[in-house]
Amino acid sequence: MTEQQLTQSRDLRESQPLWLDSPRISVRTRNSPSMSHFDVIIVGAGISAALTAHALARPGQSMLIVDRREPVRGSSIASTAMIQHEIDIPLHKLQKMIGKEKAARAWQRSARAVLRLEEITRSLDISCSMRRKKTLYLAGDELGIRAMKNEVAQREKAGITAEFLSSEVLEETYGLMREGAILSDISASANPGQLTAGLLRDVVKRGAEIVSGVEITDLRNFGSDVVLATSDGKLLSASHVVFCTGYEFLKSLANKNHQIISTWALASRPQTSLPSWLKDHIVWEASDPYLYLRTDNHGRVIAGGEDEDDPEAFQSETKLKAKTDTIRVKLSKLLGKDIGAPEYRWAAAFGTTTTGLPLIGPVQGMDNVYAVMGFGGNGITFSQIAAEIISAAVNGGQDPDAELFAFA
Ligand SMILES: Cc1cc2nc3c(=O)[nH]c(=O)nc-3n(C[C@H](O)[C@H](O)[C@H](O)COP(=O)(O)OP(=O)(O)OC[C@H]3O[C@@H](n4cnc5c(N)ncnc54)[C@H](O)[C@@H]3O)c2cc1C
Repeated sequence: MTEQQLTQSRDLRESQPLWLDSPRISVRTRNSPSMSHFDVIIVGAGISAALTAHALARPGQSMLIVDRREPVRGSSIASTAMIQHEIDIPLHKLQKMIGKEKAARAWQRSARAVLRLEEITRSLDISCSMRRKKTLYLAGDELGIRAMKNEVAQREKAGITAEFLSSEVLEETYGLMREGAILSDISASANPGQLTAGLLRDVVKRGAEIVSGVEITDLRNFGSDVVLATSDGKLLSASHVVFCTGYEFLKSLANKNHQIISTWALASRPQTSLPSWLKDHIVWEASDPYLYLRTDNHGRVIAGGEDEDDPEAFQSETKLKAKTDTIRVKLSKLLGKDIGAPEYRWAAAFGTTTTGLPLIGPVQGMDNVYAVMGFGGNGITFSQIAAEIISAAVNGGQDPDAELFAFA
């Protein structure tokens, strides 16, 4: 392989996501590693790498995290960070795609991952505004109320709590004029920059090295090791290598069931006048294009959607204004009040897969090389699942759900 061919190289975002203005999103890095061989090398320094590093860090084990950007400056800083167990593809639809038992396991695993993520954040005392929330999933043109009732029934059979809310209850309790909704537990929201940086700082404290500004340009197996070439002309080796490169995935893993598209988001000014219930809920719509929203702890509403299939559309300045204006109008209509001119507007590349499930596991044709990719609307939850599956594999075991997410 020649340079530039190993992972996709793309702009990941346009304009200024609000989290870039947060404190505690920086991590100490080195210009080059202190040695050339490590037990584990993780490529990428976003939320997937941070959680994988957290799961893999062991006393006495050497670990290098290497990113061509500064840590936490890829897609993770653009995320609206609604941490959901609800997968983009509803359970009753996923059952038809992969079978009832597997679909139920994927949803259950997702719910456990949200709880585990909260536990990790708490146990490390990461100050990232992690807050437990309920989810309102509003009926729309993709899922009407009959389908929503079926969805609730299927989730209950799978042991995942959900409640159908009629239009009357929605209006009375939330002041929302929609045909119906599913109310569920086990969601959260956080500041993704602070969460990622907090995890990375913890693994550095435990001995890991982070090198930024260096790209991995090639990889080969050599004996039982994996050898990596870097953009600064060095060779590194490791017993295990994990590619956590987000939407800049390994080119050899391009797959027709995995697409990169464009998405847009905004954040209102602090202390926007909002319904009081919104601080304890995240909201998304079963519509195409869809709208989703949450609040932050400064009283902003953060909302996104208006996705387009063109992976480069997010780079257009005209679209940034038009799409975020549309989000503002939809949001104001939903909440029954104008949220005012957004303080932040941004756009980014975004991943989708046909099943809504990520791709996690060993890279075929290579020994001891793993990749995690295919993250969509609940990418952060999936990063936690990826961390668990990869750490089981690196430690010589097999996660019981690994085959649900494996590269086919
Ligand atoms: C606008 C938007 C809204 C979103 N909303 C949500 C949401 O509400 N909830 C949710 O759960 N998820 C959401 N997501 C998805 C979630 O943010 C992503 O799944 C997650 O950030 C991906 O993290 P990552 O660590 O895999 O990738 P990244 O954060 O992009 O990190 C990958 C890193 O790999 C580095 N890299 C790539 N190739 C190489 C190489 N060859 N050598 C060295 N370094 C390399 C890159 O520089 C990059 O820093 C959203 C995403 C976007 C864009």
